[in-house]
Amino acid sequence: MQQPPAEPGMTLDQIDTPALLVDLDRFERNLERMAAEVRAAGVRLRAHAKTHKCAAVALRQMALGAVGVCCQKVSEAEALVDGGVPDVLVSNQVVGARKLARLAALAGRARVGACVDDAGNAAQMSEAARAAGVEIGVLVEVDVGAGRCGVAPGAPALELARRVADAPGLRFDGLQAYHGSAQHLRGFEERRAAIDGAVARARETAELLRAHGLDCATVAGAGTGSFRFESASGVYNELQCGSYVFMDADYARNLDEHGAPVRDFEHALFVLATVMSVAHGEFAVVDAGLKALAFDSGPPAVHEPAGAGYARPSDEHGRIDPRTSNARLRLGDRVWLIPGHCDPTVNLHDWYVAVRDGVVEEVWPVDARGAVF
Ligand SMILES: *Cc1c(COP(=O)(O)O)cnc(C)c1O
Repeated sequence: MQQPPAEPGMTLDQIDTPALLVDLDRFERNLERMAAEVRAAGVRLRAHAKTHKCAAVALRQMALGAVGVCCQKVSEAEALVDGGVPDVLVSNQVVGARKLARLAALAGRARVGACVDDAGNAAQMSEAARAAGVEIGVLVEVDVGAGRCGVAPGAPALELARRVADAPGLRFDGLQAYHGSAQHLRGFEERRAAIDGAVARARETAELLRAHGLDCATVAGAGTGSFRFESASGVYNELQCGSYVFMDADYARNLDEHGAPVRDFEHALFVLATVMSVAHGEFAVVDAGLKALAFDSGPPAVHEPAGAGYARPSDEHGRIDPRTSNARLRLGDRVWLIPGHCDPTVNLHDWYVAVRDGVVEEVWPVDARGAVF
């Protein structure tokens, strides 16, 4: 792990770059807004920590009422528990003896859960839990339309849930019914239609299980793009939104019911870059490229100077074209970039620099950086 690029008390111009910046005022408003929404809807929030990979952020979410966090990998869960997070769901399949043994060991230190969509995998998880003398909470994952993991709704889910409920060391907690590919459908009605389908499949499955005496205490799913539909459904009771804490440039391209870009949550995560060359004259070159930003959802948006554009990323460079803005960039100037996709951008950094009113207030480690196993 590298030394942090800044220390508390420093001003913005003293931060080394490229640095992953959190604007604390915006970030705290995002946390409070989501907490208020889930409270008003009468559902629980189990925030997704794959977005931030940071125990300090997870504990703030829990301080505002989240019942715990999700993550995608056992190593991520380990890093979060090491950082003091008491309740983690691996909202994903955990396959292989070594991973299952680590999951079971972790369940001896915190409240731990995972998803299953295969009876053989459930049997192995049961064996790992029994060997470690622990209990692992299990959600049976149902494919509610996303076409990734999950058994088919209805009878196949019932069959698997019965196996889980009967397996020593496993606690059947309910259903995982996340519709991932609906989150970035741009149109409001498109997202609504996709989630209507997910709700129908989740409802049918939960009712079937209950009719057979299996209590679905948890029906989980939802992300930042769709959570209002799930929370109003009367079926889902645990939301897994993640990106709302930071809001990347890609999420800001989703449209609301009036056809305008969604503005429920504020951009709170930035990569702060420095102009390192103006030799060309036509454009400025900044010090943040492919190793400081993720490009899977397009280039970063330029927050400051407003109106400028980022292009031509290479390993350690990017071009800022300031022609569309009034700003004339000079060597050493700072450029604020809004990542196209926050989750994989965070995974490129060791530290967050949390700032308020132009001063560094805290630095937080990205505890689960590189925790992809
Ligand atoms: C990524 C993910 C989420 C959160 O999605 P956001 O769009 O980041 O809010 C929720 N649940 C699961 C299972 C996920 O993989």
